[in-house]
Amino acid sequence: MFRPILIAVFAPLALAACTSTTAPIESVSSGPVGGVVSAADPRAAEAGAQMLRRGGSSTDAAIAVMLALTVVEPQSSGIGGGGFYMRGTPEGDLVTLDGRERAPAAATPAWFLDASGAPRPFGQAVLTGLSIGVPGNVALAAAAHGRYGRVEWADLFAPAIALARDGWVLTPRSAEFLQLARNRAALTPEGRALFYDAAGEPLPAGTLVRNPALAATLEAIAQGGPDAFYRGPMAEAMVQVIAAATPNDAPMTGNDFATYSAAWRTSPCGTYRQYRICGMGPPSSGATTVFAVLKQLEQFDLAALGPASTTSWHLFAESQRLAYADRELYLADSDFVPVPVSGMMDAAYLARRGALISATTRMANAAAGTPPGALVAMADGAEPVESGTSHFVAVDQWGAAVTYTSTVEGPYGSGHIFGGFYLNNELTDFSLVPEQGGVAVANRVEGGKRPRSSMAPTLVYAPDGTLVLVIGAAGGGTIPVQVAKALIGVIDWGLPIDQAIALPGLYAPGNEIVVEEGSPLLTMRGALEALGHTLVERRLPFKANGAQWLGGQWIGAADPRSEGVAIHP
Ligand code: GLU
Repeated sequence: MFRPILIAVFAPLALAACTSTTAPIESVSSGPVGGVVSAADPRAAEAGAQMLRRGGSSTDAAIAVMLALTVVEPQSSGIGGGGFYMRGTPEGDLVTLDGRERAPAAATPAWFLDASGAPRPFGQAVLTGLSIGVPGNVALAAAAHGRYGRVEWADLFAPAIALARDGWVLTPRSAEFLQLARNRAALTPEGRALFYDAAGEPLPAGTLVRNPALAATLEAIAQGGPDAFYRGPMAEAMVQVIAAATPNDAPMTGNDFATYSAAWRTSPCGTYRQYRICGMGPPSSGATTVFAVLKQLEQFDLAALGPASTTSWHLFAESQRLAYADRELYLADSDFVPVPVSGMMDAAYLARRGALISATTRMANAAAGTPPGALVAMADGAEPVESGTSHFVAVDQWGAAVTYTSTVEGPYGSGHIFGGFYLNNELTDFSLVPEQGGVAVANRVEGGKRPRSSMAPTLVYAPDGTLVLVIGAAGGGTIPVQVAKALIGVIDWGLPIDQAIALPGLYAPGNEIVVEEGSPLLTMRGALEALGHTLVERRLPFKANGAQWLGGQWIGAADPRSEGVAIHP
């Protein structure tokens, strides 16, 4: 049977949870308080759990996780980047908050073009100030805390400050990133001093690292609030760092920081097999892509097929191809471009798209469709592949659930450091080319615009309306696929969330299927090829975190591919 095979294959791959490296964080109260925190790093999860123990809300916990991740997982996320936050309650309240980075007001569609009009190579663009957007996480945290916080603002920062000041132990995964992304992590003297030895070699796993500059930055924001970040000396100094690294004439200004705000947005929702799936709308492609992948499969009896069936994985790949074709054409910042969100989630439209999928052969051509309300036909852009990010969830004793994805985009963002944290490279999530064949690309750079994202914080309600699942993932373009896969695992295959997250995965946004290195799905290679697919085996950046309402309590889960943990305080 499939499940035992799965466990056997994944057990050796699972990294041990790094509880032995966890910095001690004092618990304020003792005894179980209920709720859960799941995050990609145990120290960050503990920072969130500490907020729940002292009577904080899931919003407090999620913000404390975001801040602690800035310290302990600098390759993935932090206050130098942005994110998307969603909150749902058992009473049915649902909000999303967009803390996505914004391009400088002076940016134009030619932002990434050189003097000859050609797009700069991605590797070059990332390491310049061109890739850095105004960070959104601090504004997001302040807006969310203003509505839903119960713990004092300054107290949210205490665990992260302690980690930065007293030190944290580098995990194997972090040490590996210092090796793999050396060009970014060690771009500046500050980065080299933090994470490399005198000979220029990355510090090994197990090293205690201190970051006093970051402790001071966090202390300043803890005391001064978001204005300490977006106005005054800190903002001016950041602007200078960014402008000095920007080869264009119109770099970031203090006004770009001063005018930044996080935006409350409506969550697009749709029904898949009687479960209500709610996600993050534009500028994220999360909600529409997750939902399309699922809804296009509704005509097939995935429950009967099960996870051991090649047909299940073939259908999953075919649905991805259709969903990603639509996302490439239509998704961008809806403050700038009309995005047909409700058309892309429309049941009749997705049934028509799903009818293009055959259970017995691969579609020759998975082209984009024309969702209802699509007024503007734009060109497919040329966005570089993303890989980074951290997802976390928190549920509090009142049952309010937060699902929050935070990112600096690629590993260590742009590589430029300020105040002990890495500044993002989120603007390379824009298409580097503004048009194709004279037709504008929806996701081209524009002044003040937010780049399209793949991040997909998601909430699921059972047929009786109960909030039953909160989930999200890291890993660039693979994010919607990871979330959709876990939802199929839970809804169609009846798996608990930990097993649904641990399920093997494949990623098919284009013409080939990428299968995880060493995946049990590789045993299906011959059968998938016989259906017409081309398979590529590659390491995929899967890293999901979630929680499920199961048996009268919230159960957290972290991806066995990661160092993540769930804590039930
Ligand atoms: N920048 C990416 C996005 O917003 C996320 C990066 C990643 O997860 O690797 O979609």
